[in-house]
Amino acid sequence: YLYKPWQMKKTTTTCNYCGDGCQIHVETKDSEVVRVTSPLSWKNKWGDRADTSKGHGGICVKGRFGFEYIDSPVRLKQPLLRKEDCLVEVPWLEAMHTTVDRFTEIRKKHGSDAIAGLITARCTNEELYLFQKLMRGGFRTNNLDSSARYGHMNFVRAAKYALGLGRTPNDWEDLTKAKAVIIIGSNLTETNPLTAVRIKEAIRVYKAQVMVFDSRITNIGKLASHPFLIKPGTEGLVIDALVKAAIELDLVDEEAVSAHPQAFAALKAALANLSLEQLASKIGLTVDNLKETAAIFAESPRSIVLCAEGIVRQPDGYHNVLKLIDLAWITGKLGKPGCGVNTVTEEANEQGAADMGVAPEFLPGLVAFEDDAMRDRLAKAWDVTLPAVGTGANLIEILKRCRSGQIRALYVVGENPLATLPASLEVKAALERLDLLVVQDPFLTDTARLAHVVLPASTYAEKDGTFTNLEGRVLRVRQAMDAVGESVPDWHIMAALASGLGCRWEYESANDIQSEIMKLLPGYYNLGQPRRIVPTANRYLSNGYGSGVTARYKASGPDSRRPFTLLMGQLLYHSGKLSTAAPGLIKIAPNTSRIGMNASDMERLGLGDGSMVRVTSDHGELKIGVQRDHTLAPGTCFFPEHFNDPPVKDLMAVHVDPVTGVPSFKQTPVTIEAV
Ligand code: SF4
Repeated sequence: YLYKPWQMKKTTTTCNYCGDGCQIHVETKDSEVVRVTSPLSWKNKWGDRADTSKGHGGICVKGRFGFEYIDSPVRLKQPLLRKEDCLVEVPWLEAMHTTVDRFTEIRKKHGSDAIAGLITARCTNEELYLFQKLMRGGFRTNNLDSSARYGHMNFVRAAKYALGLGRTPNDWEDLTKAKAVIIIGSNLTETNPLTAVRIKEAIRVYKAQVMVFDSRITNIGKLASHPFLIKPGTEGLVIDALVKAAIELDLVDEEAVSAHPQAFAALKAALANLSLEQLASKIGLTVDNLKETAAIFAESPRSIVLCAEGIVRQPDGYHNVLKLIDLAWITGKLGKPGCGVNTVTEEANEQGAADMGVAPEFLPGLVAFEDDAMRDRLAKAWDVTLPAVGTGANLIEILKRCRSGQIRALYVVGENPLATLPASLEVKAALERLDLLVVQDPFLTDTARLAHVVLPASTYAEKDGTFTNLEGRVLRVRQAMDAVGESVPDWHIMAALASGLGCRWEYESANDIQSEIMKLLPGYYNLGQPRRIVPTANRYLSNGYGSGVTARYKASGPDSRRPFTLLMGQLLYHSGKLSTAAPGLIKIAPNTSRIGMNASDMERLGLGDGSMVRVTSDHGELKIGVQRDHTLAPGTCFFPEHFNDPPVKDLMAVHVDPVTGVPSFKQTPVTIEAV
């Protein structure tokens, strides 16, 4: 390094990549981020390592080397306004006046519901809270959503419905001390490396039995006692089979099921037509594999399920989470210390986005939007009339309404739907139909290039606030450096917009917003402590279980009309919205612009590394190079979802969860021919 340690300013803050929420030191010199270090590198005067992090003091490669996007030369430094079809730099005052005037004009002409907003779950809790307050109290619309809709909302909704909880019940201590862990649909070492460290510790120190179900060979699978390679898209069938096996092997917890005899009868009836043999053959495992897993899980004193995008971002993701809760319920693993069904999140503050009510179905505190008492409380506190019940739209509905002309103005904060969603959702057509597209982002994204106004926003290193990690700990984000160029924190821009709209908001700092949240949600800022809420009963047992359960257990499987399954998933980068702007990470895992294939498939098709193929799905075709990928089973191919060059994502089929509106586009049947 060019600088001595004492020449740099060291700020302890929270990593903004994944939901693990590790504590990091951002070391800066003036306005340059020199390095990010782990609190492990701290030693006190007695030589002890200071474990200030909730992640045992460690950080992963993303936290350590993914910081260069913060002071990237391509950061937006000034607002941009579209003039004569070009985006040109303008002063803040002009950009804000234009934005406020055009929003006001559209509202007057078309009404409040002609306005909608989308925000990234990498914003702080304070910004997420302010965003929904601006949408509901300033614009008077309930058309709002966050990137938690890309999957986590399936977990939140299912856990809320079944357990009244809306979050994970366990903390990292529970993971570490678990005796049995089912990991399903999660490439944990890549997406949430510090959670993976806990599982590794559970294996090494506590001799946990770990059963991993995935359609790719993952690193955590290599360490597991029971790694299972399953056919793509059969994760839901695995859960069906485990529930069925638990019943057939009489592994049910009598106390748990006898408290809800009708619900248990409904569950058994729903499973009656499914046979373990048929399920096992569809999944690609043996009946013994499934029975052994069910037995280990049911018989261990502390059993945990960890699911991720392979569950929550699949068609039927909501029901898949409910089925996992069924498994935990009948085996007596609900409400017991050290047991439960959990998820991990890709973005730093997806739980915070749900908790702050950034969804048409939730008010702050994960209270239903229809809840009269909370609506009254908010209306009084904000001195506004809230939008009417039944008017709101989520991400997919917002895009639909943009295409139909019902929504005329869209406010996008840190999101890039054009690059994130497949072409079949016609995002470009939706955005081009708008009278006003305002994008607030640190970068000129694909979506921003279509905008009428682009507002430069700061990154997490340039602002104060909090994130809520996947355990439910609220963790401090501290400003490590001055804002780059004329960029400002997202909440500043939201407050300025609100003031332009005539709202009387008085926030001098993120602390002021925190004080307001604290009044509305007492106890939320129990900083650093996991909010341990152990569910004592699953609510859905007495809430229409009989009718819902049949819909959950319906035999289904992957579409086999085309011989290959194209998988899109995550490597190091998550969504890539920020990480692909970090040269440190690109050096570690560059975009090869090739799809991965199993070696035997390549041999059969006469392909070598670098050969060109034509990949065809029901949604289009493209030519692309191939390379061997030893993590893939025959019949599957893979492309990382964070790279859009070439646009492999556009080949994907999109399923929208009928209950939660979560879009899934992780896999699609394709044909592959040599060209
Ligand atoms: Fe950041 Fe997640 Fe890595 Fe921790 S595990 S350093 S929160 S990316």
